Amino acid sequence: MRARLALGRHIAERGQPVAALDLLFESLAHNPHGLTVHQAIWRVLLQVGLDRSLVQRYVESARDAVFFLDPHVCIKCHYRSTELLWQCPHCHEWNSFVEERIAPAKEAIEM
Ligand SMILES: [Zn+2]
Repeated sequence: MRARLALGRHIAERGQPVAALDLLFESLAHNPHGLTVHQAIWRVLLQVGLDRSLVQRYVESARDAVFFLDPHVCIKCHYRSTELLWQCPHCHEWNSFVEERIAPAKEAIEM
């Protein structure tokens, strides 16, 4: 997906924004939480003067993104939190929180 994002940026810089968006939308489908993908898409959308149909395509592509509200998880007791905590309020372990790697929306839907 990094390759797709890099290629999308490259094509956009060479003045082929619609071709670039095809790649970036594909990248977004695999990594809907990637802020860099969203930013790259918006940069291209601005480049094409916020073309209505392309913005619409972006809205539709981004709609299925699944965002976890509580990405921090205690590795000891699996307590979840919206913020990174120093001490787990459930098992009282110190420094036990990690930010869970978020699965792509496609996988999340299959779960
Ligand atoms: Zn805990």
